[in-house]
Amino acid sequence: SEPVRLQKYLATCGVASRRKAEELISAGRVSINGKVITSMGEKVSPGKDTVLCDGKPVLVDEEHIYVMLNKPKGYVTTLSDPQGRPVVTSLVSDIPHRLFPVGRLDLDTEGALLLTNDGALAQKIQHPSHETNKTYEALVQGHPGQTKLKLLEKGVILEEKKTAPATIKVVKHMQRQTLIEITIHEGRKRQVKKMFEFIGNPVISLKRIAYGRLFLGKLPSGKYKILNPKDLKKIF
Ligand code: URA
Repeated sequence: SEPVRLQKYLATCGVASRRKAEELISAGRVSINGKVITSMGEKVSPGKDTVLCDGKPVLVDEEHIYVMLNKPKGYVTTLSDPQGRPVVTSLVSDIPHRLFPVGRLDLDTEGALLLTNDGALAQKIQHPSHETNKTYEALVQGHPGQTKLKLLEKGVILEEKKTAPATIKVVKHMQRQTLIEITIHEGRKRQVKKMFEFIGNPVISLKRIAYGRLFLGKLPSGKYKILNPKDLKKIF
């Protein structure tokens, strides 16, 4: 078949999303026909050239697979961890495909995490223009009033940039804490925690409960389910 750019090839083969694939190339972890490639322009002829990533052959995947995991706290969403903490991919290791997480969740955040070998879908979900909604359940300190919550919904300035509109619902008032459901479509680092820090009600614990209208439901912590095409449609 036609030559394609190396980063696209890596994404198609399910090694990583397109952006992460570029990072792998820059880091000198990818070779074509025995030559390490660190620039982005390079092209590959699928089925003809030999591409290795970390010394392992990269082949066109015959099948795309999509999984929703209920990530437990204490797991990292990177593919490996220099500090030796458990990685989320170890929870899907009985699936005979190389899966990678779509986006990230903090070490101490639990809940819905998509994993796939479909680099194009991963890219689409993470691209800001698609505005994929993510819903979180946040247990916060204190009782933020309507004024503060409306402020968060409209957007607040974090790191010199206003956050996009959010939707907020108070689920439950407790003695010194409030359980809040918040839906955002951006994915900045520690965004939900920073938003609640901003109004003076820091997050005590955080759980992602949905991508779009695809909910985690009763999936137990540490377990996954394979998604079907109908499930996938609910994400967007
Ligand atoms: N927002 C956060 O602050 N942390 C996450 O893990 C996800 C969203």
